[in-house]
Amino acid sequence: MENKEPLIITDKDDMRRWSRSARAQGKIVGFIPTMGYLHEGHLSLVQECKQHSNLTVVSIYVNPGQFSPNEDLSTYPSDFIGDINKLKNKADGVDVVFHPKDLYDYGKHDGVVNARRNDLEEGKVVSCVENSGQGHETWVRVERLEKGLCGSSRPVFFRGVATIVTKLFNIVEPDVAVFGKKDYQQWRIIERMVRDLDFGIKIIGAELLRDPDGLAKSSRNVHLSPEQRKKATSISESLFHAKTAAQKGQVVCIELKDLVIKTIHEAGGKVDYAEIVDQESLEVLEEIKSPAVFCIAAWFGNVRLLDNMEIVV
Ligand code: AMP
Repeated sequence: MENKEPLIITDKDDMRRWSRSARAQGKIVGFIPTMGYLHEGHLSLVQECKQHSNLTVVSIYVNPGQFSPNEDLSTYPSDFIGDINKLKNKADGVDVVFHPKDLYDYGKHDGVVNARRNDLEEGKVVSCVENSGQGHETWVRVERLEKGLCGSSRPVFFRGVATIVTKLFNIVEPDVAVFGKKDYQQWRIIERMVRDLDFGIKIIGAELLRDPDGLAKSSRNVHLSPEQRKKATSISESLFHAKTAAQKGQVVCIELKDLVIKTIHEAGGKVDYAEIVDQESLEVLEEIKSPAVFCIAAWFGNVRLLDNMEIVV
């Protein structure tokens, strides 16, 4: 198994054929969707997936459907060869890397594009897919869960995520799929989508992995200057403080939030949101009585960082 070369599949029909053949042979297919520029957080998902499956598929695809035109799609980091080497050397190999070129290219343009261009001109919120001239117009929405937290400042984000995950599930046809709790809201949205739409896929949430200085591992961390990176550790430090305070009895959310927001501001960061929500419903809490999660997004320079901390008192 060690240093195994993965089969690289770029065509969606080939991917579906491989998976159907594997499942016909009684194999359990595990799947980890990623946008590449892999780090140990992604590799920990691979290890988790192997506990639940016989064969592992990792997809590497930066999804334009979850970025709006003013976001960082064009600067999203990539290193495909490096990713393959990491999967080979650090994750003991995977069976398939699915690396499609464009999952919204249907080979024919059908006129929907112009309507979407008008939307853009009118300032309506759209994703990079509407602007791409490929006529995609079907979206999956998880209506309540997609609204708060990251959904407030990135209105097309979860629509894009739920849609691409649906497309990937329909192409890869896995038995099991693993998502990181690093993107807590995303994990909960996918769980709900799978339940509501009866996908026959088991969803597993894998623990958030941090660097030794506490910063949550992320492909976007590469864009932080050394100084910003140091300051950005204020996010995890303040979250750990909030957790300790809650466990000592300080369960009023506004006080815990103030503590975190103040620490991050003092370090030079700009908080996008800081909310304490119920772990399952993601409803905003005023007091921590049930299992909660403190979710935060903050900017350091041009980099938007996500973090969260589960708190049970
Ligand atoms: P991305 O490539 O950022 O779309 O992430 C792909 C998957 O890896 C998602 O399920 C993420 O939640 C997960 N992931 C990213 N960073 C981490 C991390 N630090 N710890 C655990 N999972 C992570």
